[in-house]
Amino acid sequence: MVTSPDAPADVNALVRRMRPFGTTIFAEMSALAVRTGAVNLGQGFPDTDGPRAMLAAAADAVRDGHNQYPPGRGIPALRTAIAGHQRRFWGLDYDPESEILITAGATEAVTAAILALCEPGDEVICFEPYYDSYAASIALAGAVRRPVTLRPDGDGRYAFDPAALRAAFGPRTRLVLLNSPHNPTGKVFTVAELTMIAELCQRHDVWAVTDEVYEHLVFTDADSPHVPLAALPGMRERTLRISSAGKTFSCTGWKIGWASGPPSLVAATTQVKQFLTFVNGAPLQPAVAVALDLPDSYFTGLRDSMQAQRDQLVAGLSAAGFRVLVPEGTYFATADITSLGGTDGLEFCRSLPERCGVVAVPTQVFYDDPDAGRLLVRFAFCKRPEVLAEATRRLATLRPH
Ligand code: PMP
Ligand code: GLN
Repeated sequence: MVTSPDAPADVNALVRRMRPFGTTIFAEMSALAVRTGAVNLGQGFPDTDGPRAMLAAAADAVRDGHNQYPPGRGIPALRTAIAGHQRRFWGLDYDPESEILITAGATEAVTAAILALCEPGDEVICFEPYYDSYAASIALAGAVRRPVTLRPDGDGRYAFDPAALRAAFGPRTRLVLLNSPHNPTGKVFTVAELTMIAELCQRHDVWAVTDEVYEHLVFTDADSPHVPLAALPGMRERTLRISSAGKTFSCTGWKIGWASGPPSLVAATTQVKQFLTFVNGAPLQPAVAVALDLPDSYFTGLRDSMQAQRDQLVAGLSAAGFRVLVPEGTYFATADITSLGGTDGLEFCRSLPERCGVVAVPTQVFYDDPDAGRLLVRFAFCKRPEVLAEATRRLATLRPH
């Protein structure tokens, strides 16, 4: 994993296992955007607010005194809303009492699950490029990551080698950490791919932890709809399914997430969560419960507007000369920089604001094998059309160098 050189000055104060991580690439690139006044298509956060009913419910909750510690697993109204939402969209049934835990974002759910399930030396299989907090959480647990690389094929679809996935499983494998729809590639794992993963989990008797924060951002032209791994035969009882409100309701700063799964997995994760944050987000919990109950049209409307923004950005990047790997989901598109003379994504992103006033994120920092992502950079399209128009206008001025 490549890290920023802006590591804390007194790096020796830090335990060895956290030293490789430095400052996250998101913080580095957002700071660069602020410093240079560039359009920030780096860190993924929307520039519009979520549903009004949710915002009003949060304001009411603060005013009505929902400001003390909520129950350890989260308020019953939110756990019930999460159960209803998963039944409505994915046909999955979870008991709000024993099978759902509210966390401080999906990030805490992933960290607590890894800390709860992995002994030092246990192995975690994940697909690279991986979301940066995965590597740090695995390191915190003293566990070992076993990445399987996603590479663009001739059609521009990210795929993995089934033999590499099979070879990643071994006697120390404890769990598979699967993110679909996938950040940063925008890949939506197909049912055939999920089936292969499910069979291997069962054959080797390992847990699955799934990060599905982009569950509602799968575009209408994707080869496959979103299918939770837990919905496949034999997987519900061995999967902890994680999601959060941040992307679905455009409130990334609220950090309300959840984990659903069999009671044993939820109890183990709760045991750790209680000593990380204890509880979180008292007045935001009832508001997210309101949002989860919104009609289907809210969720399809979010997808449709994001799909239009994807098309706008993809067209702009292509016109600027990039080879774009069109995403089927999430709010990110990756692009190959070769045709613009780029040979290193990190260098390319560090100079992009100066060259044309736009910030992107290099994906090589999300690989154990940086060469696999050296030529790829990620652009976020969760921005208003006028912001994307300005960004693509600036990108069009780029000349190879
Ligand atoms: N997982 C993935 C794949 C993400 O992209 C993100 C944030 N963008 C998160 C987890 C973090 O989610 P939260 O803000 O709910 O912690
Ligand atoms: N998940 C967001 C992204 O991928 C950023 C979250 C963060 O800054 N840690 O851009």
